[in-house]
Amino acid sequence: PSLPHQPDCLFCKIVSGDVPATIVRETDTTVAFRDINPQAPTHILVIPRAHYPDAAALSAAEPAVAADVLREAGEIAAEEGIAETGYRVVFNTGSGAGQTVFHAHAHVLGGRGLQWPPG
Ligand code: 5GP
Ligand code: ZN
Repeated sequence: PSLPHQPDCLFCKIVSGDVPATIVRETDTTVAFRDINPQAPTHILVIPRAHYPDAAALSAAEPAVAADVLREAGEIAAEEGIAETGYRVVFNTGSGAGQTVFHAHAHVLGGRGLQWPPG
């Protein structure tokens, strides 16, 4: 079952429109918007409308919606023109990996050279 809207969650507030964002694509299950502090020329976040704390919880509970997030990431990369040169889809999971917003989200990063490993 999808978790309800969490009143204290920033990304739930973006889904509901209570916090503004530059939205680039929406589906019945997902919302994608530009990161407020971009780390690359293209830096977009793709989130499920439903609240799950991270990608593992989302994919365990709603694998079809997790697939929607991944498909949207690819569609955005094509639309933004970063698919040709290469891009990265990242799910930071846990504070030790840099996760700061505990509503599942994919970062879609591209438009510059990307190093591997990321550090
Ligand atoms: P995390 O660190 O959890 O993987 O990623 C959270 C991302 O959310 C960060 O890249 C951060 O810049 C972005 N972010 C935080 N607050 C806001 C906001 O109010 N609006 C938007 N558009 N992005 C935000
Ligand atoms: Zn949330």
